[in-house]
Amino acid sequence: MTNRTASVNGAPHPQFAFFRGEMVPLEDARVSVMTHALHYGTAVFEGIRGNWNVEQEKMYIFRLREHYERLMQGCRMLMMELPYTVDDLCRITVELVERNANRSDIYIRPLAYKGAEMVANLKLHELSSDFTLIVVPFGNYLGTENLRCCTSSWRRLEDQMTPTQIKTSANYLNSILAKTEAVLAGFDEAILLNQDGHVSEGSGENLFMMRKGKLITPVLEDNPLPGITRETVMELAQEDLGLEVVERRIDRSELYLADEVFLSGTAAHLTPVISLDSRPIADGEPGPVSTALKRMYFDIVFGRNPKYLHWCTAAVLNLVAA
Ligand code: PMP
Repeated sequence: MTNRTASVNGAPHPQFAFFRGEMVPLEDARVSVMTHALHYGTAVFEGIRGNWNVEQEKMYIFRLREHYERLMQGCRMLMMELPYTVDDLCRITVELVERNANRSDIYIRPLAYKGAEMVANLKLHELSSDFTLIVVPFGNYLGTENLRCCTSSWRRLEDQMTPTQIKTSANYLNSILAKTEAVLAGFDEAILLNQDGHVSEGSGENLFMMRKGKLITPVLEDNPLPGITRETVMELAQEDLGLEVVERRIDRSELYLADEVFLSGTAAHLTPVISLDSRPIADGEPGPVSTALKRMYFDIVFGRNPKYLHWCTAAVLNLVAA
């Protein structure tokens, strides 16, 4: 995720960031080492995908508004007042995507942060905020089509300790520790239990399981992030596949006995879990519901399903060098 240029018709194309209210060359978007957020993780962010539809030569940004609505909730929690509305943020995002003109899948990262250059201060209400937005090329996040997961020795954060329903940067140490442990132990992804041992979610994904014909996902009381992909999957399963979808508490051992398990998230899309703690899930192959939902989901996020085109914001890329 370090590219500073995109290629347009074989020629390098300069990349921009939205920073302190303007579009600036990416290399000029820099903050001071005194920045509060750098020291304490006092920031909220979003991960939004732009999916490049090769046939139509269009970038489809998935559920842009919903991401900014969640970002705004995080800002409220962290006492950040941005000088933008959700509509403004959507417009700025489309403008940046069009200007950067990446002709491949992208990840859009808005970040609202305590930009105050004040390090020994723990009072949110005294710290000024800033907003920045970057776009980077982004392929398969998990690096594999099917996942071998482990149960993390780290527990998912509890809402009484830190707000779990918002994407605050500080919370991500929990995800980072779990992911690192899983990958260093030879697994693809970690599944975190909550404090009392119930299944919560992956390190950056929500979790679903199929058992006895029902699609089941952990209740928000067990502290998973209220994922936008989670909500999307629940709607598709119910509306299009006619499945009963249940939000309830999931015991750890239920996962080993599930007919199917999959993870969902903006970066992860919808990815089947084929083994957990070295035990295959069912026959160790992606199951029929995961496969059907994944196919539908991909059609939708690439703007190929007219019924759900309202979830996609199309960006028309500027092919003239900026
Ligand atoms: N849980 C965590 C911890 C995450 O970081 C993410 C990614 N945002 C998700 C779940 C999935 O959320 P979404 O579908 O909104 O991307």
